[in-house]
Amino acid sequence: MHDFKFKKNALFCEDVRIEKLVERFGTPLYVYSYHTLIDHFLKLKKAFEPIKPLICYSVKANSNLAILKSLVNKGSGLDIVSGGELFRALKAGCPSGRIVYASVGKTAKEIEEAIRLGILFFNVESLPELNSIQHIAKRLKKRVNVALRINPDVEPKTHKYITTGKLTNKFGIDLFSAKKIILYARGFSHVNVSGLHIHIGSQITTSEAFVAAIKKITVFIAQLKKESVKLDYLNIGGGLGIVYDKETPQTAQRFADIVLPLLKSTGLKIIMEPGRFIVGNAGILVTKVLYVKNTPKKKFIIVDAGMNDLIRPSLYGAYHNILALDKRVGLEKADVVGPICESGDFFAKDRMLPQVGEGEYLAIMSAGAYGFSMSSNYNSRRRAEEVLVSKGRVSVIRRRESYQDLVRNEVIP
Ligand code: PLP
Repeated sequence: MHDFKFKKNALFCEDVRIEKLVERFGTPLYVYSYHTLIDHFLKLKKAFEPIKPLICYSVKANSNLAILKSLVNKGSGLDIVSGGELFRALKAGCPSGRIVYASVGKTAKEIEEAIRLGILFFNVESLPELNSIQHIAKRLKKRVNVALRINPDVEPKTHKYITTGKLTNKFGIDLFSAKKIILYARGFSHVNVSGLHIHIGSQITTSEAFVAAIKKITVFIAQLKKESVKLDYLNIGGGLGIVYDKETPQTAQRFADIVLPLLKSTGLKIIMEPGRFIVGNAGILVTKVLYVKNTPKKKFIIVDAGMNDLIRPSLYGAYHNILALDKRVGLEKADVVGPICESGDFFAKDRMLPQVGEGEYLAIMSAGAYGFSMSSNYNSRRRAEEVLVSKGRVSVIRRRESYQDLVRNEVIP
């Protein structure tokens, strides 16, 4: 599953001892395993080999250029949601023909940049957006491919904040409206609706919702065929869940076995947009214990990472396994909290944890996805350093921010 393992009682990333990394780079420190990252990409690629999909890694999960470049070099495309992510995709050397662009709120400027660069297609989320793309493409004298993002109204059984394919969510277009839009768009001079897109949520651990959504789409594709609508692409989004705790998510192969027959029946070129599945278990956040504080009600392990470094527990109540850097027998019940002035600044609550003292370290596991990419400077905290480990080789892929970085764009009038 991943290359963070205990060897002779010490936690390693591939061939490198984590303790050595914190001594060298300090904390909070994100550590990524190159081989875990690539292994997950290749697992998906292999499982879906019979239909040779274009796997467009979802940049939002972890947008570090070194992560993007590693995947692009293995043939990955990229799924982006902003002009900034487009900039990163190009910096990472991703061919524009392997970039797909979603988001409910693309600005005119962002649309224009993406058209000029010739991305594969936009995932369009509303009629006004489609009109805007037509208008801009006409001005640029370019013909643009788009996929309509369909909201299939299915329940993915994940956290409500990462459920995206229900009609109460802001994403995509319901099937009834989508048909009307597709027929209407046939009259567009500079936009070609060449595909459909779905993305029903994230951290989905069972296949039912994917199957339900894909089935709805296949029925819809058949209806469109009757209206002589010709499509080229079906983008099935991301959303595959990973192990954080006791989940038993489907493997890439199991997922493929279930959905391949449905996907093949469409006859369309398949695009996938996995993020978490590829990078989630490929990264950890290492943090130092600053103080251990006993109160009449609780024991608090106060660490030097905060919700600004990893917001998932605060935002979604997400669970991350927490380990000491060596194997220990004694466990104690405690909260692991950061230094930030919010009671929501925690990594674990009332959890049986290894007994650790001041100056020791904890590894917050499975922090590769939506970890650094969701981090902020809240409380004027510098964002963490990131390192990538490949066997015995360690590369800094983002330096720790300086205090100067914090105020770089600020002006006192
Ligand atoms: N595609 C789209 C449109 C998304 O919004 C997201 C995540 O929110 C993803 C792909 C990636 O999802 P995941 O990381 O769960 O695979």
